[in-house]
Amino acid sequence: MSAEPISSPNDPTTSGSTMFRGVLPPDAKPNRAATWVELSLRSGPFILLHLLALVAFWTPLTWTAAILYVSLFSLRTFGLTAGYHRYFAHRGYSTSRIFQFMLAWFGCCAVQKGPLWWAGHHRSHHRYSDTPKDPHSPHETSFWWSHVGWILSNEYTETPYEDIPDFSRYPELRWIDTFHIVPGITLAILCWLIGGMPGLVYGFLLSTITLYHTTFSVNSLNHLFGSRRYATPDDSRNNLWIALLTFGEGWHNNHHHYQSSANQGFYWWEIDISYSILVVLSKFGIVWNLRTPGNRALNYRRIRPTAKVTSLEQMAATAEGAGNGSRPLDGGTASSTAS
Ligand SMILES: [Zn+2]
Ligand SMILES: [Zn+2]
Repeated sequence: MSAEPISSPNDPTTSGSTMFRGVLPPDAKPNRAATWVELSLRSGPFILLHLLALVAFWTPLTWTAAILYVSLFSLRTFGLTAGYHRYFAHRGYSTSRIFQFMLAWFGCCAVQKGPLWWAGHHRSHHRYSDTPKDPHSPHETSFWWSHVGWILSNEYTETPYEDIPDFSRYPELRWIDTFHIVPGITLAILCWLIGGMPGLVYGFLLSTITLYHTTFSVNSLNHLFGSRRYATPDDSRNNLWIALLTFGEGWHNNHHHYQSSANQGFYWWEIDISYSILVVLSKFGIVWNLRTPGNRALNYRRIRPTAKVTSLEQMAATAEGAGNGSRPLDGGTASSTAS
C-alpha cells in the first residue's frame, strides 16, 4: 500500500505560500516565558542524559560498543534526515505505509520526539525562516535558543497537527508520535542486552548526544556559517562540515531554495549520504518518486559570483574619485602613477 500525501509538495514557486499559512495569528508573538519549575522539568532529562554520559570515563570501550555507536548513529541519522526531514516534513519522495512507519520508528529512536511534532514544527521554520515567528532562528534570538533552547522551552511542547494534516491522518503515526519515547527506551534496553554497560553508554547514550548536536547544528550553525548559492529570503548557508556530519543536511541553503527535493547536495561534489542511500533503496523499490531540482530550479535566484569584480570596480572608482585619473586595477601601477 502506498502512503501518498494528500497535497502536492512545495517547491520554489510555492515556498512560503499559503500552503501551511494560518497556523499562527498574524500578530502572534512568541511567548518565551516559562517558570523555573517548568524549565527544570523540561530540561532535566536532557541535562541528565549529558551528565550520565560522563560515565564513559569509567567504562571501557569495547568493539561491540564501538560498532553500536557507529551503526546506531548512522541508522538514526538516516531516520531523522531521510525520514523526519525529507519525507515527513517535505515529502521529497514516496514510499509504502510499512516503510513510512519504519522511518518514523528509526527517527523516534533518536529521542527527538515524534515525527508529527518534528515535521510540523519544521514546516513552521520554513514558513517563517529567520523572522520573529521562526521557532529557532539564531538571528532573531540567540545561538543557544536556536540550538536547543526552543526544544527545552514550554512553547513548542505540543504537536502542531494543523501543520501536518497529510500525515496526521495515519493512526499508527499519531500513536508513535504520542508514545515517541517507546522506540528510544527499547533501543536502550537492546544496547544493554547486546553490549552490557559499554553498549549502553557508547552505543546509546553517547551516540544519542552526538546525534542531538549534529542535528541541532543545522538549526543553529547552518543559519550562521557557510556560503550562499541562492538568494533565499532567509540566511541559510551551505556548509560542507555539517553536511558530512548530518549525511547531507548541511547543504541548507540548497534546501531552503528547493525544499521538496529528496537531495540536498545538488552536485556530485556535494556529499549527501542520505540521498545516496535513498537512491539505493529506490533500486529495490522500497522508495520511489525521488524529487530532484531541474535546470530551471537549479538556476533560479542563483547568486552570481560577481562580488570580486564589483570590489575591484569599486576600488577603481575610489581611486579615480581621489583625483589621480589612473585605473588602479593592478595596484602597483596606480601607486607609481600617483607618485
Ligand atoms: Zn527543511
Ligand atoms: Zn533552516
